[in-house]
Amino acid sequence: MRTAAERRELLKNVYEEARGCERCPLHQTRTTVVFGAGNADAELMFVGEAPGANEDRMGLPFVGQAGKLLDKLLGEIGMERRDVFIANTLMCRPPDNRDPQPEEIEACQPYLWQKIDLIEPTVICTLGNFSTKLLRGERTGISRLHGREEVRTIGPRAVRLYPLYHPAAALYTPSMLETLRSDFHRIPDLLALGPPPQPEPVELPPEAELDEPIPEPELAEAMPGVEREAAAAQLGLF
Ligand code: URA
Repeated sequence: MRTAAERRELLKNVYEEARGCERCPLHQTRTTVVFGAGNADAELMFVGEAPGANEDRMGLPFVGQAGKLLDKLLGEIGMERRDVFIANTLMCRPPDNRDPQPEEIEACQPYLWQKIDLIEPTVICTLGNFSTKLLRGERTGISRLHGREEVRTIGPRAVRLYPLYHPAAALYTPSMLETLRSDFHRIPDLLALGPPPQPEPVELPPEAELDEPIPEPELAEAMPGVEREAAAAQLGLF
């Protein structure tokens, strides 16, 4: 078992690798890698679709109108961003906000799996179709699955997976907003259930020693302007 501090350090290492990622062509058009932000020790994690223009500029997930709605819904259940971790299926903005492509999702997936593995959430809310299909490994769409929790094994751990409508979709459709809100309000009950029964651990060969932690000021100083602000905001919250 890793301690919260060890997991946080490992997450920072993943972030360090991700911020220079060139695994798919989106690196050519992005401004900033949106790694995800929040509490590295969160019980509740959200996985959205992909950064939009604001997120790409600021390096943080859900900073536009959809993010404001997410904050509001979190407030309604007595939580705030610092209590949760928010990530996306893709870390880089698709040009003109087009849909993520299969090869982009595949290239980005190992990063998402590492985040889930290190944060060890109890509940993962997938927001919209892309993350729901990815985390369930099936093609069933969000309109059939929203609000239905299930236990799924992701990597070595079982989590309570809870698909929700994407807040951006709910912004323009009042009936969808009401459904999202009532699904959202069940999150505290799911958290109260605690972690689901875990699969038997697989014996792995001994892991390499944890890398030396990178002191945050040093990390921040290595980056210019906007990128430094985004990094400070992301790291400040882990
Ligand atoms: N929509 C997403 O799915 N993710 C973001 O970060 C912003 C909007």
